[in-house]
Amino acid sequence: MLSLLLLAAAPAEPLVEVKSLIPDVVVDLRYATADNFMKKQVYPSDARCLLLERSAKQLKAAADVFREKGYRLRLYDCYRPHHVQFELWKVMPIPGYVAEPKKGSNHNRGGAVDLGLVTLDGKDVEFPSPYDFFGKEAHHSFQGGTKESLANRELLRTTMEAAGFKKNPMEWWHYDLPDASKYPLRDEPFNPPTDGGTP
Ligand SMILES: [Zn+2]
Repeated sequence: MLSLLLLAAAPAEPLVEVKSLIPDVVVDLRYATADNFMKKQVYPSDARCLLLERSAKQLKAAADVFREKGYRLRLYDCYRPHHVQFELWKVMPIPGYVAEPKKGSNHNRGGAVDLGLVTLDGKDVEFPSPYDFFGKEAHHSFQGGTKESLANRELLRTTMEAAGFKKNPMEWWHYDLPDASKYPLRDEPFNPPTDGGTP
């Protein structure tokens, strides 16, 4: 019984800030602005892109490959505090697009990342749909986009898979750790409060 309690109290693997590991990423957290499908800001303005260290290291491996090909990462969403999952679900209660809050999303575990690409000088790279577009244009099976957008989606997929991530068939931008579900759901803030700081 005691050992079980100790196990439950063991601190979870810490979340790391992706920008400290991959300094040239473009952090474009849409939920920290009103520019998202809810038209509502649900993250604080100073939200950071945080991931489990393992996800972040795999993402760094992918970023190194993209850089060789002339691209940098554009990060739309990373770790997402669990309580935010309830707000997303209120607006979009469709499994596949938004994870049921009770089950939780791999974003709530630090084991999923939403991303696109920009060129090395920061220009947009075309994909078959905008980020968080809920329709067939966002699916990996969609073949109706421009040749370039489909090629970019394939480059993103093959590079992320080679780095050990798993695609979501319905969202070209979403990648998971294949065994993300073994990590706990978490609800810690993006910026931990500092002790003894200014009131
Ligand atoms: Zn996602």
